[in-house]
Amino acid sequence: MDSSNKKRVAIIGAGPSGLAACKHALAKGFVPVIFDSGASVGGVWTRTLASTKLQTPAAAFQFSDFPWPAGTSEFPSHDQVLGYLTAYARKFGVLECVKLGCKVVGAEYSGASEKEVTAWDRWSGNGEAFGDGSGEWHLTVEHIESGSIQKYEFDFLIVCVGRYGVTKIPTFPPNKGPEVFHGKVLHAQDYSHLEDHDAAELIRGKRVVVVGSGKSGLDTAAECAEANGSKYPCTLIYRTANWMVDHKLTWGLNVSKRTTTRLAELMVHKPEEGFALSLLATLLTPLSLLGWKLGLLPDRFYDLVDEGSLVLNKCDSFSFCADGLVLDSGKRVEADVVILATGFNPDQLLRSVFTSPWVRDIVSGASSDTMLPLYRQVDSLLLIITSFFIFAIQNIVHPRIPQMAIVGYLESRATIYPYEMMSKWVAHLLDGTVRLPSVKDMEKSVGEWALWGQGARRRSGSLFLKSCIATVTTWYHDQLCRDMGYSARRKKGFVAELMEPYGPTDYADIQ
Ligand SMILES: Cc1cc2nc3c(=O)[nH]c(=O)nc-3n(C[C@H](O)[C@H](O)[C@H](O)COP(=O)(O)OP(=O)(O)OC[C@H]3O[C@@H](n4cnc5c(N)ncnc54)[C@H](O)[C@@H]3O)c2cc1C
Repeated sequence: MDSSNKKRVAIIGAGPSGLAACKHALAKGFVPVIFDSGASVGGVWTRTLASTKLQTPAAAFQFSDFPWPAGTSEFPSHDQVLGYLTAYARKFGVLECVKLGCKVVGAEYSGASEKEVTAWDRWSGNGEAFGDGSGEWHLTVEHIESGSIQKYEFDFLIVCVGRYGVTKIPTFPPNKGPEVFHGKVLHAQDYSHLEDHDAAELIRGKRVVVVGSGKSGLDTAAECAEANGSKYPCTLIYRTANWMVDHKLTWGLNVSKRTTTRLAELMVHKPEEGFALSLLATLLTPLSLLGWKLGLLPDRFYDLVDEGSLVLNKCDSFSFCADGLVLDSGKRVEADVVILATGFNPDQLLRSVFTSPWVRDIVSGASSDTMLPLYRQVDSLLLIITSFFIFAIQNIVHPRIPQMAIVGYLESRATIYPYEMMSKWVAHLLDGTVRLPSVKDMEKSVGEWALWGQGARRRSGSLFLKSCIATVTTWYHDQLCRDMGYSARRKKGFVAELMEPYGPTDYADIQ
């Protein structure tokens, strides 16, 4: 532990993942440096739509040992989330470690050559977080305000850049794209980054079309519809119809409890599950379909539709014309502003951190569209998942990239405590408690998860997101607990273990 204090740990990103990674590294005696390009800690929660609030109940969206203030509503506003994250960072001494306005524009491993690394039997050469001490990460950091560049060296790198830095924009044939449109086109992220006043000004009295029915699309459409009413209705263009409900209905049914118990997990296939569990999952799968494929809507969504403030249009493809959009049915939708809520490219964001083409290529698994090729992961979205109570759980270390971990890569609605579990695991790796198997065994495990991910993709179709979410949260946390030397069974007695929902506080004692 004495020598660990001297090891230099860098974290890229001060969102929930980076904050948790820092807190747990501090707890093990390291003093990490967090670089974040933003102006404050909190990641995506620093800049959202004015109307954004948690979709996940606060009880699920919390760190295991840091409860929300008494009296917090079930679905806190984005300001409250930001306040919660900042308070967490303050309480555990994380704020002192953060360098804001600092964008990492290049991370490069310096030590063993690519050829040597490829030949290693053990991760980092000897299976340990810091290898033999000769390798290090060189970070090139741009100070946003001054534009100056500074170089830093670290012994271990934790990448916590989230999924939202790089937007996905649809492509169109010539003369069918935004270039022919006389109005304004912007991505939902750019809209959410506007100051509230500027955003209100942009849409006031305008015919707004929102493309995409994910979380951002629904929120943006609802916000525009509320602002302009039925005089200038907002049109939402969507490709896939999902089962959508509002908060009250959802929690009236208490679906969260149904989806976070071990009993619920028995109904889905799990990686490396063995014959008996696989058979059970196959037999029970129909039960899980009874009510889980649901999405959560913004407040008053259907009221807005009934009032005529929000118009829903289903279409598979569209193109632009001078005064709006032409849908694949031939229908024209007039517009002044088109907001593309068409998602993000998280792989590109992740790749952009690294300088070496080799690391760029292997970090996001060029050959796989189901998961990141990392050890200790859960990737994929099962068909039966509720889209309002799904958990982000995924990848931590790449068998071939030394002295580096990735925490938090995906979007989900109860993300932070799985990210916290990953952070705990990384901290235990840093202090030598977690022992990694050989590279061969790590790659075998990665392969099994990949296989499972492919099955999940088949079952979930269009709902599948790479390296995303699963109903197998507890299954995954079981692995992490065992790696860290803790019991995976966190409840008292067999019945409680099977029937009681699992949540953040079940893991509070793991430090
Ligand atoms: C609108 C919206 C609503 C959401 N609602 C929910 C919800 O209800 N429940 C839920 O569980 N999840 C929700 N999420 C998911 C959300 O991703 C997580 O809550 C969480 O913010 C992810 O944390 P993170 O730290 O991994 O990533 P982020 O919050 O994205 O933070 C990443 C940080 O990395 C920094 N960064 C990136 N690249 C660099 C670089 N090169 N150099 C320096 N800094 C860099 C960024 O500035 C950012 O601060 C929502 C997401 C969005 C966008």
